[in-house]
Amino acid sequence: LAALISSRFGVPFEHVVVGAGSIGILQALFAATCEAGAEVVYAWRSFEAYPGLVLLSGADPVPVPLRHEAHDLAAMADAITPRTRMVLVCNPNNPTGTVVGRRMMNAFLDRVPTDCLVVLDEAYRDFVDGNVDTPEGAETYRERPNLVVVRTFSKAQGLAGLRVGFLIAQAPVATAVRTVQLPYAVSHLAQVAAIAALRAGHEVSRRVRAVMAERHRVRETLAGLGWRIPAAHGNFVWLPLGSRAEEFAAACEVAGISVRCFAGEGVRASIGSPGENDRFLAVARAFRGRPSAAEPVGLNFMAGPRVRSSQVS
Ligand SMILES: *Cc1c(COP(=O)(O)O)cnc(C)c1O
Repeated sequence: LAALISSRFGVPFEHVVVGAGSIGILQALFAATCEAGAEVVYAWRSFEAYPGLVLLSGADPVPVPLRHEAHDLAAMADAITPRTRMVLVCNPNNPTGTVVGRRMMNAFLDRVPTDCLVVLDEAYRDFVDGNVDTPEGAETYRERPNLVVVRTFSKAQGLAGLRVGFLIAQAPVATAVRTVQLPYAVSHLAQVAAIAALRAGHEVSRRVRAVMAERHRVRETLAGLGWRIPAAHGNFVWLPLGSRAEEFAAACEVAGISVRCFAGEGVRASIGSPGENDRFLAVARAFRGRPSAAEPVGLNFMAGPRVRSSQVS
C-alpha cells in the first residue's frame, strides 16, 4: 500500500507512513513529537478529535477561533511560542467546509519556525472545487520540510470502517512516526481495500463528482431560500445557525434526517443521494418560514451576504 501511495503521489517510499486511519497517524505523530508542556495550535471549531488527541499526548491544546468560518492563519501564527511543536491546518475544514488559499498558506508557512511542524489534514481534499487555488500537501511539502500531510481512505474512498490512512513527510518525521507506531496497525483487509480503491480511481472520482454536483445544488437552493452558507469544499454543507442550531437539528431528526449539531454554532449536513438531499431541503424550506423564538429573524443566518463559491479565505 505504501509503495502504491508513493507512486501515485510521486513521493519517495520512505516519506509514506500508513496507519490505522488518519486519527491513528495523528496519535503517533503527537506521541513522537509532544510531551507535557508542549503546545499544539489548531483552529476552532475544527475536527472534533484534535483536542482529545492533544490532551492524550500530554501537550496543551491552543485553539484559535475561526474567522468567518475559516482558519485565521495570521492569528494561528501569532499563537506560536517556543513551546509549540505543531500547528494543525484542516483543509478543507471539518465542519465548516472552508479552504485555505495558496497565497495565505505560503505567507503562513513563511512565519512558522522551521522546528515547528505544520500538519495539513487533507481528509476532504478530493472534494475541493476545481476553481479554487488551495495547496496540495504532497507538492507543498517538497519545499517545506516542516510540512506533514495527513490523508485518509475514510471519506472519498468510503472506507471509514476499515481504519486506514497515511502520512507524507520528509524522512526524519516519517521515521519518527514509524518508530512509535503500533506494529501491524493496518489490517490486511484494510490494505487490500485501500489498494483496490486507489486502482479504482476513476470510479472514486465519478462518485466524488456526483457528491460535488449535489453539494452545489443543495447550497444554491439554500442560498435561494435566503440562507447564508459558506463556500462548501467537503462532502457536506455548514449551516451557521447560531442559537437555532439545536432547533434545526431537531426538525431534521423528526424528518428522519441525521445531521451533526454543534449547539450554539451550527449544523453540518452531509450530502446524500438526490432524493435524500431533497428531503433535507424540504426541512430547510419549512424551517426558513418558521419564526424564531430565540432571537430576531436574520440575526445570524438569514441576512448575511451570500458567499460566492469561488471565494477563498
Ligand atoms: C474524518 C476525518 C479524519 C479521520 O479520518 P480517519 O482516517 O477515519 O481516522 C481526520 N481528519 C478530518 C478532518 C476528518 O474529517
